Amino acid sequence: MEYIDLRSDTVTKPTPEMRKAMAEAEVGDDVYMDDPTVNKLQDQAALKFGKQDALFVPSGTMGNLLALLAHCQRGDEAMVGDKSHIYTNEAGGMSALGGVHPRPLMNQRDGTLALDDIRASIQTEDVHHTITRLICIENTQNVCGGVPLTAEYTAQVGRIAQENNLRFHIDGARIFNAAAALNVDVKDLTAPADSVMFCLSKGLVSPVGSMLVGTRDFIARARHLRKMVGGGMRQAGVLAAAGLISLEKMTGRLGQDHARARKLAAGLKQVKGLVLDAAEGISTNMVYFNLEDEVKLSVNQIVDKMKKRGVLVDWAGHRRFRLVTHYWVDDEGVEKTIKAFAKVLK
Ligand SMILES: *Cc1c(COP(=O)(O)O)cnc(C)c1O
Repeated sequence: MEYIDLRSDTVTKPTPEMRKAMAEAEVGDDVYMDDPTVNKLQDQAALKFGKQDALFVPSGTMGNLLALLAHCQRGDEAMVGDKSHIYTNEAGGMSALGGVHPRPLMNQRDGTLALDDIRASIQTEDVHHTITRLICIENTQNVCGGVPLTAEYTAQVGRIAQENNLRFHIDGARIFNAAAALNVDVKDLTAPADSVMFCLSKGLVSPVGSMLVGTRDFIARARHLRKMVGGGMRQAGVLAAAGLISLEKMTGRLGQDHARARKLAAGLKQVKGLVLDAAEGISTNMVYFNLEDEVKLSVNQIVDKMKKRGVLVDWAGHRRFRLVTHYWVDDEGVEKTIKAFAKVLK
């Protein structure tokens, strides 16, 4: 059975064009830095973000880890959102592997960290205190609804970082979704940051890979750390070939995923028993909703029943779901999903 898979945008399989480019990719040994396809991908990523250099990494998690390790010494403190992927979904790598001390700040409903909270959390010089080194924000903020953070907000965080001699990292796993939703260039959302990680393997459809961008010195340090954590890949050009198509062709079409997410939300809002987070406010590719108390089915039972109807969904909490639209979900898939939920909850 051909499933409609809304569990995440990470499920996106490569397009036929990507598979062809992968098969034909010119490759070298990327640890020697002579894989031409990887080099081209890194150059194009740096150019797109207006940064000096870029590094291809196997995963977003490794990209974030390298950024934390490159910016911070052991015992340094990094501010992270309490609902951020870095804090909650990266197996504690920052502290376990990097000895970096997390300072969790509450993510506001709009996905931001309150500027006053950031200012108030900068440690003063005192024998008791850690040394505050880094601010991390996430754009789009996944758990807060896939919400985009604006260029204005990012600039304000950048100013605080600059005034206090702190580094600034953006977990931009879905930064191109944010740029599409806000109708701005990705540079507008990342110029104030010292480093940005973004994923090729989510809405941009590549099978594997993420990128880290920043200054030449920062990337050189991240490359060394990548080797340290076992992420030096050899003929990685076969993967970078797909990444190039992601950058060239997939960043411009994300608005379609967002439109379908809005359509999905509008349809699900009519289904009795579902309470949408923000049917009107959906701006990127995620649709979050809760089950009303009167629904007697558990989330797991709903997952099973939806699967029998050809739709894969994943729960995001005891009574909560997150659906994610992407390249392989078309209008028909959206309609079918709405109908399937209506049937399952009847
Ligand atoms: C997916 C994701 C990551 C990590 O990417 P992986 O490639 O799955 O390791 C980091 N941050 C956010 C916000 C994500 O959604």
